[in-house]
Amino acid sequence: MEAETSHCVYLVGAGPGDPRLMTLRGRELLARADCVVYDALVPRVMLGWCREDCEFIDVGKRGRRHTLAQAQINNLLVECAQRHTCTVRLKGGDPFVFGRGGEEAAALQTAGVTFEVVPGISSAIAGPAYAGIPVTHRDCCSQLTIFTGHPALGKEEGILDVSSIASSRGTKVMLMGMEQLGDSMRALQSAGLAGNTPAAAVQWATTARQLHVQATVATLAEAARKAHLSSPAVVIIGQVVQLADALDWRKHLPLSGLRIIVTRTREQVGSLSHSLRELGAEVAEMPTLRIVPPPNKQDFAKAVVGSPHHDWLVFSSPNGVERFFEAFFSVYEDLRELGGSRIAALGPGTAQQLRKRGLMVDVMPKKAVAEELIAEFDRKADDFGGLANSTMLWIHAQQARDVIRCELEKRKAIVDECIAYDVAPGNAHYASMLLEEGADLITFTSSSAAVHFVRMGLNLPEHCCIASMGPITSAALHKLGMPPALEAGLHTIPSLVEAICRWAGTMRK
Ligand code: SAH
Repeated sequence: MEAETSHCVYLVGAGPGDPRLMTLRGRELLARADCVVYDALVPRVMLGWCREDCEFIDVGKRGRRHTLAQAQINNLLVECAQRHTCTVRLKGGDPFVFGRGGEEAAALQTAGVTFEVVPGISSAIAGPAYAGIPVTHRDCCSQLTIFTGHPALGKEEGILDVSSIASSRGTKVMLMGMEQLGDSMRALQSAGLAGNTPAAAVQWATTARQLHVQATVATLAEAARKAHLSSPAVVIIGQVVQLADALDWRKHLPLSGLRIIVTRTREQVGSLSHSLRELGAEVAEMPTLRIVPPPNKQDFAKAVVGSPHHDWLVFSSPNGVERFFEAFFSVYEDLRELGGSRIAALGPGTAQQLRKRGLMVDVMPKKAVAEELIAEFDRKADDFGGLANSTMLWIHAQQARDVIRCELEKRKAIVDECIAYDVAPGNAHYASMLLEEGADLITFTSSSAAVHFVRMGLNLPEHCCIASMGPITSAALHKLGMPPALEAGLHTIPSLVEAICRWAGTMRK
């Protein structure tokens, strides 16, 4: 095969807004992409699924304000295909449902560029579904018409046959119709559609900002205006709209309607985000810091090589556990090389990382605070005959507080240090794109996440509250002029999730 033929442009549907509604194929391609050309309605978190060196091109189209004309976008795609092996053209919903994906495909075809299409879930189906409206129902509708309300129905002859839409049976779904909503509803009524036909509009469907109004064809425009509901929204017309009250499945989720930004390192964001999403929140993960190798790699290597046969291994963080064992297994093949050391972990998260590797901890405070770890050592001192003359290896980050070493040495232990990693700021451009979409809450699980947030020069969105993992993080937040609205009782992810649910409950009252 010639080199050129392996270049491909993928027209990928990003789905309606909730990032979890993208296809597996789409996500796989984003992870591989050299370049992503995306629209305004594409959720920004998806750009975080791409490689760090991926090129991003925003051709943001919103209503009539096109950043780039369609012909320019077509040319851009051809040009990207010449420079890159894998270009993803990421489009809201499905690329072939009113997304002008057909035109882009045709332009690629004419230019001799290979392309593939990855369908997406269209807002025409998902929008109603997230408002509890099934677009078809055996009892009342066996036909579905999807049409565009742009330009206003009946205004441009020949584009849309208003009378056939008005007289069609079953459910009608209108996209791009908010700017001319009143005109379009009137045109449909003039063409014979009964004014009392149930109608609904759903804005920002499937996201935390979702808004939903229900009315009739005659009253929808006024109801939408009163509720300040505008583009992007889908309009649904038909008897199925009446099912919305009974079938609104999202109202039972405690965090639905909340957009939460989770600041953590790229590697660690998983479990907190997962729990919050399960409870209905829209979650954007913001890596304010990255884990990088320690400044002195040789010292780290030496410490790992020398780790076996210490009386104690003391792990300060989950990252420390990960980096330590990555290095350990590049030197040793068998976990038993560690010898019979006792193990201490600064908190449950760190202990969990150790348990994953088949290691139980001997000392662990309930709260992930250095002083609490020392107190726990003191409480358990009788079990292991005190710490005097014990050899200890303390595995931690470059910026760790000195408390652990000082306190252990006060107890006459011999403490070696193993600096396993350092942290560097995250991608400020990506972070500010996430903030532009707004947020109700932002979580900080460590003081360094907070410090790095500020160092990145980021500002909180309006009305955004702050959640803190515990007293040390809260103290750092206060110092930075960002007082937290809530704090986890125990310094664990489940406890933080609980605190967020309590906060959400009081917010709703
Ligand atoms: N290809 C897209 C549609 C693009 S046209 C799809 O399949 O969904 C843009 C229109 O889609 C908007 O004007 C609006 O009517 C609708 N739309 C897209 N995302 C939406 C969302 N999250 N909520 C409501 N409507 C949305």
